[in-house]
Amino acid sequence: MAKKEFKAESKQLLNLMINSIYTHREIFLREIVSNASDAIDKLHYRSITEADIPLSREDFRIDISIDPEARTVTVSDNGVGMTVEDMEANLGVIAHSGSLDFKSTMESVDDVDIIGQFGVGFYSSFLVSDRVTVRSRPYGQEQAWEWVSDGADGYTVGECEKETHGTDVVMHIRDDLEDEDYGRYLDEYVIEDLVKKYSDYVRWPIHMQLERGSMEETGETDEEGNPKREWVTRTEDTVVNSMVPIWQRPRDEVSDDDCRAFYREKFRDYEDPVAIIRVNAEGAVSYRAMLFIPRVAPYNFYSRDFEPGLQLYSSGVMIMDKCKDLLPDCFRFVRGVVDSPDLSLNISREILQHDRQLTTIRNNLEKKIRNELARLLSEDRESYEVFHSNFGTQLKYGIVDGFGAKAETLRDLVLFDSFEKGSKITLREYVDAMPEGQERIYYASAESIARAKQLPQAEQVRDRGYDILGLVEDVDEFAVRTLREYDGRQFCDISGNDLGLESDEERKDSDAREESEREVLDFVKDVLGDRVESVRLSRVLKTHAVCLSTVGDVSLEMERYFSSIPGGPEDVRARRVLEINADHPAFDALKRARIEDPDRAGSMAEIMYAQAVLIAGMPMDDVLDYSERIFGLF
Ligand code: ADP
Repeated sequence: MAKKEFKAESKQLLNLMINSIYTHREIFLREIVSNASDAIDKLHYRSITEADIPLSREDFRIDISIDPEARTVTVSDNGVGMTVEDMEANLGVIAHSGSLDFKSTMESVDDVDIIGQFGVGFYSSFLVSDRVTVRSRPYGQEQAWEWVSDGADGYTVGECEKETHGTDVVMHIRDDLEDEDYGRYLDEYVIEDLVKKYSDYVRWPIHMQLERGSMEETGETDEEGNPKREWVTRTEDTVVNSMVPIWQRPRDEVSDDDCRAFYREKFRDYEDPVAIIRVNAEGAVSYRAMLFIPRVAPYNFYSRDFEPGLQLYSSGVMIMDKCKDLLPDCFRFVRGVVDSPDLSLNISREILQHDRQLTTIRNNLEKKIRNELARLLSEDRESYEVFHSNFGTQLKYGIVDGFGAKAETLRDLVLFDSFEKGSKITLREYVDAMPEGQERIYYASAESIARAKQLPQAEQVRDRGYDILGLVEDVDEFAVRTLREYDGRQFCDISGNDLGLESDEERKDSDAREESEREVLDFVKDVLGDRVESVRLSRVLKTHAVCLSTVGDVSLEMERYFSSIPGGPEDVRARRVLEINADHPAFDALKRARIEDPDRAGSMAEIMYAQAVLIAGMPMDDVLDYSERIFGLF
């Protein structure tokens, strides 16, 4: 038989695949089994639609057999089979949908893993084999055909004998290499595990002849008259796959307990999830999904190692273990499976992101997840707060991400500390509790709630009966700033320059008073120089003498945050304002000193600023200078 060349494109892909250092070799079995399953699907469909095909559901099966001596693994099906033309067209070229896209994504070796993610169908058999023989007899024909290839060189086709319709794919397993134990694929337990791992939910039974041992009575008795027993092994025809996945079973047959057990086992979590979402969608895209919202975050959740994604199946065949494109990033903590018959395995040939069906599924799932979280929040606050303590940070990052693209989806799901309640509250709860006359949503950011409560500015706000949200996580303030407002109420940093607490009348009075003290304020500003943007009489302080506030977009917390990131931007500085309480005795002392002893007044100005910096929880520029000035007062 003359050897035929693979088409150029296929050859390139084959070479790349076979020779790449490759970690996902084991997916070959999934690919070959899913082809077998497809072939049966086709014949089954014909048996339903064509009158003269006397086959029924129970007649179909897939068999996997292993011959360790011959070093072969054979996958057989009794599906439609292939004609010689089919073989030439299907096995001689990788010319199916998307193969070109595929190639272009594989230009660099870094992308080679993509094979493991997407699968390359029949060719993946060469990941573990140095020779593949395909014997096939089309249903309804007498002649069978044999296709043989030992890799990238090419293949031969010719006639052969085969008793039954369908296809045998005989994979001759490669010799072991120092760093690659191909021989393990000749172990029936390894193959059984691979079937369970990747093809458990294939709809047709996958049979293996497995050695099973048990203690059995021999029929004889021992001296005491007890029946003799011995260990007997026999080969049993075993259906290895379970065929119907839990998410495909009717809803009322599967309890929440079943789902939770499935979750714990499948996703290796020792805790039950806080919520289970089951979807059975029909319409533009049909799919079933079973999603879980975990209670606790995996240890690596907030690190780069964490791989988000849902497991993607197409009619029971797993296509991808962690499909990122099915989950919006803000809900990356969700685990689960999605199964859609509309996504044929061919989807694997596309760049998934651009798949319209997948986008539809993702958008639907996003709504379901959001609604489920909202339900949990209102019906089971305790569980929600546990969930939020683990994943709230992620939700808040979600708000900030993409300039607030998901802000609307997420804003009612995040919690902040309430000064008044001493517990976590939603923005809705804050706004609903606002007393008459309160226009804004006040927040204080600091490294801890205790610190935030000590901010001198808090006093005035709280005196009016207004609650304050304590923002203590790095992301909190960014989230609030991305939102800008909630329910028409602006967010307002109590360390900002204008808290909107004064009436027009009060404002006029304050302005006038500030003008009358202009000389003292200018004096302090001169002493402090560029360290402050301005010095003003405070409109928020009550009992405290001084505080720091800021003007512009950068708050003190943000300055602190950016300066704490190694290699972060260094020039993110808050524009500081020193606020002095004109009703505090310290201010009178300062005024007197300015006239009587300007040096001493200069020192007082320095101390006032240093105190304000300390109270704000910011690092002090020159601790020794401060200390000397304090002792200078003794
Ligand atoms: P895909 O299945 O994604 O189309 P493959 O490379 O796995 O790509 O297979 C190519 C084609 O070869 C299949 O579409 C099918 O037509 C044919 N084929 C492969 N395996 C079998 C089989 N066991 N029985 C019948 N046809 C098969």
